[in-house]
This record gives sequence, structure tokens and C-alpha cells, in this order.
Amino acid sequence: MIRAVISLLILLTALPAGAEVTVRIFARTKPVTVVFTPRQGEYRLDPGGPGGLTVGPGETVAVTRYDDEVIFRTLSGISGVSDTLRFTPLSADALFTMRAPARAEAVKTLNGSLMISSYPGSLLVLNITELEDYLPGVVRAEAGRAGPPEYFKAQAVVARTYAYRTIDRHELDGFDLCDDTHCQVYPGIIGESVIINACRSTAGKVITDRQGVLIEAAFHGNCGGVTASSEDVWVAKHPYLVSITDPWCGYSASATWVKKVSLTDWYDFLRSGGVMPGEERALYSPAGSKPVRIMNRAVAGKNINSEEVRVRFGLRSALFTMRPEGDSLTFSGRGYGHGVGLCQDGARAMAEKNMSYEKITGFYYPGTVVTDVKIVRRPLRP
Ligand SMILES: [Zn+2]
Ligand SMILES: [Zn+2]
Repeated sequence: MIRAVISLLILLTALPAGAEVTVRIFARTKPVTVVFTPRQGEYRLDPGGPGGLTVGPGETVAVTRYDDEVIFRTLSGISGVSDTLRFTPLSADALFTMRAPARAEAVKTLNGSLMISSYPGSLLVLNITELEDYLPGVVRAEAGRAGPPEYFKAQAVVARTYAYRTIDRHELDGFDLCDDTHCQVYPGIIGESVIINACRSTAGKVITDRQGVLIEAAFHGNCGGVTASSEDVWVAKHPYLVSITDPWCGYSASATWVKKVSLTDWYDFLRSGGVMPGEERALYSPAGSKPVRIMNRAVAGKNINSEEVRVRFGLRSALFTMRPEGDSLTFSGRGYGHGVGLCQDGARAMAEKNMSYEKITGFYYPGTVVTDVKIVRRPLRP
């Protein structure tokens, strides 16, 4: 089925350049009350009828869902009811913060404009901003705060490629991208200049395959010395998501790990796959053997999938050996994450050796090029 879907991707659409994006804010916790506070500059609050007002720093607007409408109330006591509230900045450098007081959400600083309406069970909080303004926050959330400039440039083109490729994912929901892991985590506007500069200096640059189509820009923390092919992990096959040997990431603390689980839990897991205790011995590795990324291990006529083992036991990667010791099973592994595509620890090391971001992305996505988004094509999602 997935293979059939992939073959449909040969249908292609042209991309808009300099895109504006509509991002759903607080998509994971879906609050019913949010608080808008201008941080810099003034905003026009338009409730979609009479009663618009100007809101500046020092003022605050609380917005609460009320059936299929929203109620707003300012700190100074002005209130109203509306279908859709619009906050429009009155200057180009305007910034505001959004809070969701009853939810475990960090305060977000945002730019652009804001639209708030009622949604089944929650508010729909939409931030309309430029894609290039959205990227630095995404890069910080996905790539961390430490690393040389070329590392962040590599992550910037990866995040931009990912965003353009998935920009119609929420078409039926009435926005472009959500701010959670489903799309890419967006914490809002950030201040780290190394990341902001990495995004600016690669503005509009994306990664494509040989046909000029945006790639599936997968990445992970640490590959443990060898990356995984997408075909092994997700079934979907791409010529640039193949297993490669990575000499760059072994320095990292994530490069090796050990985890013990109880034999009782392990046997429960095997039984759920139809393997009886005692039949699994072929899975165990001799002492001192190196971890290998074998996705499917055949035992007693059944199939043990390493990715399923990784998820079930919370392992850092699917690159491991296993040995029973007493009443526990010891996994000894390498790497962190699914192992497909760009290895972040390796990319950081390459950047420290003064390699360019194009060299880094070309190494982890073999056969791809960095090019301008204006001349690339996007796979049409079926
Ligand atoms: Zn999403
Ligand atoms: Zn690696």
C-alpha cells in the first residue's frame, strides 16, 4: 500500500516562493483560553464587526471559547463576542506573546498576525507569518542550541525542505502546519543569532533529488556509525535514504548505550509475537560482538522487528546486540533515534572540521543537491 502511495509521488506541483505560512499554535494541548500580550509595537484587534480597538504593550487580551464563538476581554475591561478575532500588527517589527494559562505550554513570542476562532473542543489559534521567520525556532527545537554555523545551516535547509514538502498536510484543517511534532515543533521567535544567521544565509535553499523534487529530509540524533535505510525502517524507499557508514559521530556520548530489561517483560513481548521462551536463543549475540542494524530477525519461523523492540523497551536506537544475563536481558547499542538520513552528531563534527553545509547534506543524503526553492518541485500528496 505504501509503495503504491510512493509511486503516486511522481505527480508533481510547482512551489510558491517566499511563502507565508499559517501555523496552528498550541496544537498539542488545544487550550480553550489563551492570552495575547503585545511585546513590541501595536496591534489592531478586529472582532469582525463593530468595536475594533488598538492594543499596545502593557495591554492584555484574554480569549475564551464559548460554543462556536469566542469571547475576548482586555485588561482594561473592554469585552466582546466574535466568530473570528483578528490581531493585525501596525508596524513591521511588532511582536506579541501567547500564553495558554491552564496548559503546560511555554510562553511563545510570535510575529505576524493572529486569528482566533472556535474549533470542536478547543480554540483554533492561527499565526500567519513568513516561512523564513518560522524556521529559526524550528531549527532550535529540532537541532539544539550548540554547534558551529555550518551545522545550523545544514539543519536550516533540512527544516525548510521538510516544511515545503509538508506544507499542505493540514489543508483540510484550514491551516498549513501545526506547531507540534506532527509537523515540526515551533517554539516561536527565538533570539539565538547563530541560528537566525544560518537561516538567513541559506534563505530559500532546499534539498532536492536528481529530478529536482524536494527530498524527504529525515534526520536523527546519532546513527551509531552507520545510518539506516528508509526502506528498512519505514518501508518507503528513496535512493538518498540508504544506509551509509558514518565516521563522524563516534565522539558523542550518544554513540554507545546499555539497557537492561527483565526477562519476564522480554518473554511477554516474545509471546505476543508467537515466540515461546527458549525459541529466541538465535537472537542472542556472542560476548564482545559488535552491534548490527538488522531490522528483521527471523526466529522460530517468526519475525522479530528491531524497530518494534526499540519502541517497546524504550531503547535509544535499533542498532544493538542482546544477551541474557541472570534474570535480565542486556541490550548494548549504538546511536540515538531511528538512524535514517542526516546524523546530527556527525553533521556537527563535519561542521567543526570546516566542511560546508552542502557537503554535509550531500554526505547524509547521497545524490542530492542544495538548490533554490523557486526552481524545485514538490511531490503531490495523494
Ligand atoms: Zn501537523
Ligand atoms: Zn552518525
